[in-house]
Amino acid sequence: MVIGIPRGLLFYEFDAMWINFFKELDIEYIISPNTNKDIYKRGSSIALHETCLPYKIFLGHVDYLLDKCDYILVPRIGGYGFYDRMCTRYQSTIDVLYNTFRDKNIKILPFNVDYTSRETELASCIDIGKTLGKKRRDSLRAYIIARQAVNTERQIRENNLKNALRNDSSKILLVGHKYNTMDEYVGGPIESLLEKMGVEIIWATDMDRDESDNKSKAVTKTMPWTFNRELIGAIVEYKDNVDGIILLSSFDCGPDSMANEMIMRKIKDKPILNLVVDGQEGIAGIETRLESFIDIILFKKRRILND
Ligand code: SF4
Repeated sequence: MVIGIPRGLLFYEFDAMWINFFKELDIEYIISPNTNKDIYKRGSSIALHETCLPYKIFLGHVDYLLDKCDYILVPRIGGYGFYDRMCTRYQSTIDVLYNTFRDKNIKILPFNVDYTSRETELASCIDIGKTLGKKRRDSLRAYIIARQAVNTERQIRENNLKNALRNDSSKILLVGHKYNTMDEYVGGPIESLLEKMGVEIIWATDMDRDESDNKSKAVTKTMPWTFNRELIGAIVEYKDNVDGIILLSSFDCGPDSMANEMIMRKIKDKPILNLVVDGQEGIAGIETRLESFIDIILFKKRRILND
């Protein structure tokens, strides 16, 4: 029995939990490779034209895994509480996959989380264990260990973030969903460019989630999408410690287009670059914009230091 885990969309939210859970239960799994042109092309040839880039990429990862595993693990995330709202695409993924791959006999292992209907992470892990023939108590133990691993990983990232903020290098706050910023095909070239230019990246998603959600209230009390609120909270918290902010989103994203427009209208005291990435063939256009943005920031900083 092999479980396929697509390296797309909410993979970057749950990877530590899933991997540790399966390891503890001694269940074999395969993770699709880093996104590359082939995976992007697979996904975009299957997806409807107006689908957002991360969703196309996700479909490409699923397509890659189909003949290599028995089940595909797919999250369906409704939210973690009454005020938590997620993009509707996170909720519809399983239905979309059943429909898209209906001729390929796809078998999905759902990871359902929606606290308003009492579908918790724990309950979902126990259901997964049951489907795979594991006892409840074994799944419970595996979940507890996996949760601890998630907490440790988060703590490490938060500590790294605090250390990065302490050094005196030039810093950019990178603001975007993990499946954009951490994806090799979407965010990878941007990360490499920033590193090449000697700029320290402060990852907005490394901030403590409850804290960032809370901080977002200084800018908006009505933003419905949890992940966007968390990103806004990180801007509120770190904008005075960085030299500029990069908003990284994907083409055709409704929540980001609304949230980013609001951020640019409300945050006036820090340079902001709004980058919208499509399934581009190259990053030449982005490279030019990114370089001029960083050049201007560094020039201004040097002038202030010299005055
Ligand atoms: S938040 Fe935007 S990029 Fe993410 S799945 Fe929804 S529409 Fe796509």
